[in-house]
Amino acid sequence: MKKMLINGEWVEASSGETRDIINPYNQEVIATAAEGNEQDAKRAIAAAREAFDYKEWAAIPAAERGKMVHQIANLIERDQQELAELESLDTGKTVEESLGDMNDIAGVFRYFAEMADKDGGEIIESPIPHSTSRVVHEPVGVCGQITPWNYPLLQASWKLAPALAAGNTLVMKPSEITPLTSVKTFELMEEAGVPAGVVNLVLGSGDSVGAELSGNQDVDLISFTGGIHTGKKIMQAASSNVKNLALELGGKNPNIVFADAEFETAVDQAMNAVFFHAGQICSAGTRLLVEESIHDDFVNALVNRVKNIKLGSGFDASTQMGPLISKEHLSKVVDYVENGKKEGATVAIGGDQPHDPELQNGFFYLPTVLTNCTTDMRVVQDEGFGPVITVESFAREEEAVRLANDSIYGLSGGVFTNDIAKAERCVRKMRMGTVWINDVNLYFPHAPWGGYKQSGIGRELGKTGLEEYQETKHIFQNLKPEPVNWF
Ligand code: NAD
Repeated sequence: MKKMLINGEWVEASSGETRDIINPYNQEVIATAAEGNEQDAKRAIAAAREAFDYKEWAAIPAAERGKMVHQIANLIERDQQELAELESLDTGKTVEESLGDMNDIAGVFRYFAEMADKDGGEIIESPIPHSTSRVVHEPVGVCGQITPWNYPLLQASWKLAPALAAGNTLVMKPSEITPLTSVKTFELMEEAGVPAGVVNLVLGSGDSVGAELSGNQDVDLISFTGGIHTGKKIMQAASSNVKNLALELGGKNPNIVFADAEFETAVDQAMNAVFFHAGQICSAGTRLLVEESIHDDFVNALVNRVKNIKLGSGFDASTQMGPLISKEHLSKVVDYVENGKKEGATVAIGGDQPHDPELQNGFFYLPTVLTNCTTDMRVVQDEGFGPVITVESFAREEEAVRLANDSIYGLSGGVFTNDIAKAERCVRKMRMGTVWINDVNLYFPHAPWGGYKQSGIGRELGKTGLEEYQETKHIFQNLKPEPVNWF
């Protein structure tokens, strides 16, 4: 039974309701979780408000906060195997991938721990005689944090670490279908010495707990990672008290391959771009744009390699791709591909659920390559969030960039070429928050992450990731106060 952490107490939902947590590999119930509601969220928000406004947290020196955040990283490293296995049980991804995530997560906590006491503010040369002027950064206050199911703990770490390093208090709501690693990490934060009320965890659905966090007047900032439609609702709700807002939304990310690219590398990376975690990655390179002259060879090479991708349990060392997260999501991916077929896309490989008997209890979909795609198709424009890549071709550099930018999204994109000048020209014109030259999906805590256009507002990670959790205050001091006698 997974409980919620409110004001330093592990509690069940006030309604007594629970939810079964399902393993997407075999549909077994792996845990039961408290199903909180608006009342639980309100209590957690009140605790976070009290801790921010009146408890010792605000007076703890930044260096001490930094030590605490370092200690969270230590504990995540200590328990990384358990955390990775929980993440794989909950999401279906391979344990190897989850272990990689845990390593990254510890790195995120360390990065922000280091930043906690490095900001001494800034002196400004005041234009007013006999005065001083300086800028300081302060915590925003009570933060509501809402996370998705695809990278449950990784996405949580991008929010928890900077919020704590900057001195905020918070209420987190993980995805209701993948709460396990968040629960464990809140236990670790307690063990690291984070005081009661500073970090609160409320489990439950978006419509109840999530909506309360977004609309509640006592929440100063809402940070959300998830789908575009939910993001729009949250933006509306957040207007109730003009909350600070950070949105990390979806993407339909282009990967441009020029004829002069290193062929084998580009094929290999085109696969990495889309088939990790069965394509359930916001920055997945699901939209392949290949130069006409190599299009057929490239598609053949891709299909030949996709044939060998091994589907199975995330706990089997030979598995390369696990299931999708849920029955509902599987049916969305099925519809997405079926619509693509109706629009005229050709299935070069995949395009179906696997028929192997041992995969029938899981939410599996075959790695899929769709060719003969054009930019006007829904299958090219919509975020499928599955192991599906659409292939288009282009004749000229300008056309490639124009096609890549023809999207409501702007999260990430890639360019493969051996011509560095061409790569630079392209990435400077691509309207995306992250662009890779001859690589895919790379990120690290030092570099900001976020989207242009409808992929979001604000940035996580990097210096900007900390600034999201800070207010900026200008302090002006008159060193020679005397009457002005204006009136
Ligand atoms: P989702 O939008 O369905 O849910 C995300 C979270 O929002 C969940 O915790 C959910 O309970 C909550 N929620 C749902 N309705 C809500 C409401 N009305 N008010 C407040 N909260 C609500 O997204 P998902 O299906 O869990 O995740 C997949 C999406 O996340 C994809 O679109 C993906 O691209 C995106 N994503 C983006 C990034 C990024 O960094 N940009 C990273 C990971 C995932």
